[in-house]
Amino acid sequence: MPPTSERAPHPRSDAAALVARRDTAVRAAVARGLVTDREPLVALIDVTGVRTAARALHAAFAAATAPGTEVLHTFAVKACPLVAVVRLLGDEGIGAEVASPGELALARAAGTPAERTVLDSPAKTPAELREAFALGIAVNADNLQELARLDDLAVAYGPAGADRLPPLGLRVNPQVGAGTIDALSTATATAKFGVALGDPGGRERVVRAFLDRPWLTRLHVHSGSQGVPADLMVEGVARTHALAEEVNARAGRRQVDTVDLGGGLPVDFASDDPDPGFARYARLLAHRVPALFDGRYRLVTEFGRALLARFGLVLSRVEYTKSAGGRRIAVTHAGAQIAARTVYAPEQWPLRVAGYDARGVPLPTRPEVQDVAGPACFAGDLIARGRTLPRLSPGDHVAVLDTGAYFFAHPYAYNALPRPAVYGFLTAPDGDRAAGTADGVSFATVRSAQTIAEVVAEAGGEHPDGLLF
Ligand SMILES: *Cc1c(COP(=O)(O)O)cnc(C)c1O
Repeated sequence: MPPTSERAPHPRSDAAALVARRDTAVRAAVARGLVTDREPLVALIDVTGVRTAARALHAAFAAATAPGTEVLHTFAVKACPLVAVVRLLGDEGIGAEVASPGELALARAAGTPAERTVLDSPAKTPAELREAFALGIAVNADNLQELARLDDLAVAYGPAGADRLPPLGLRVNPQVGAGTIDALSTATATAKFGVALGDPGGRERVVRAFLDRPWLTRLHVHSGSQGVPADLMVEGVARTHALAEEVNARAGRRQVDTVDLGGGLPVDFASDDPDPGFARYARLLAHRVPALFDGRYRLVTEFGRALLARFGLVLSRVEYTKSAGGRRIAVTHAGAQIAARTVYAPEQWPLRVAGYDARGVPLPTRPEVQDVAGPACFAGDLIARGRTLPRLSPGDHVAVLDTGAYFFAHPYAYNALPRPAVYGFLTAPDGDRAAGTADGVSFATVRSAQTIAEVVAEAGGEHPDGLLF
């Protein structure tokens, strides 16, 4: 990738392009009957947006690192655990960071090669570790007890088989502090992840763990997610790099050859800026920790939200509108089942809502303060509260924006509400396929809607007499 590609196009025009693709896709989705009585809620993924973000990630690190620096970008599958999404990113040269047997299986179903897969869960069972070794995928141990399990597995390979071991690392917690969202701050003093470096004896125990295990070659850090400021994440990486240098100095060789920087770039849920900010973050890292980018270390990244959030939306029909206590309320099908975080923690996870008419055309601005409610049977099931939006009427549509990561791919089964279908879209002139259609949009199924029969099966439908002992 030429370094010039790092220079982002004019942000305004880029945001305008994003909005234009979105509006075109919403109109086509409505016109083609993707939103129906039976399926009044669907999710859409902007394939062009995802590809552009993936390319921006490659370009950002290519521009900030010394020529020849090996960088493996992986996608944190938990951010959008859908096979076709992992496959799309794989097509852009991005591997998979997985944290459970399910995520590993879906990364494999997406065709992710073992050498581009990293396993990071904090609670790996012996069976998961054996599988990772058998497949040859990289493992980052979370703690010293897990390292002891790796010892047992490594012994089986013997000194002669050391070459056949997968890349093995240890996650550390640099204890740099919290961001604005406690639940997503992974590097506080008491966080559950990694080995706490600042605890009495912590750092020395980590160094010794490496000196005792010649096959331990990676350090892993992931200091947080949405709400953690970039300078905290950079500080976490800097401390991890300093530790790698210390291990290597004491080992008298370059034992730690790879630093896994984790993910964690936040997304601005208040704007349409499609730039995920990778270039700025890579430049911050290069400035603060230049020796990490000088080509001696292999790098791994694990971004999730920044690659996907902006490029997904949930589209729902407005079923009813009403007024209560002077507040107008639009009752839609988008609620807790696709936005659990927003419904339960609205201050921390505000989502923008865009209004479209019955044909999927953006509603004229006739601003009115409204609540946008979901279908679930509890009062807090609101996607937006007291929000100024174009006046919504029954038959209109709402798009819940920036829901490509950690929202519709994380359904919540309240009220036995089914998982909505997910479609990817391409708009002309992004591809011949799209250009060949009447409205210039192509849709592809990423996930079918869950059927009512599947909802019953998930509710134990096979065992109706189960409790009638
Ligand atoms: C969740 C997670 C990520 C991705 O975080 P984002 O904020 O989505 O970028 C990366 N690495 C690890 C270990 C994680 O747990």
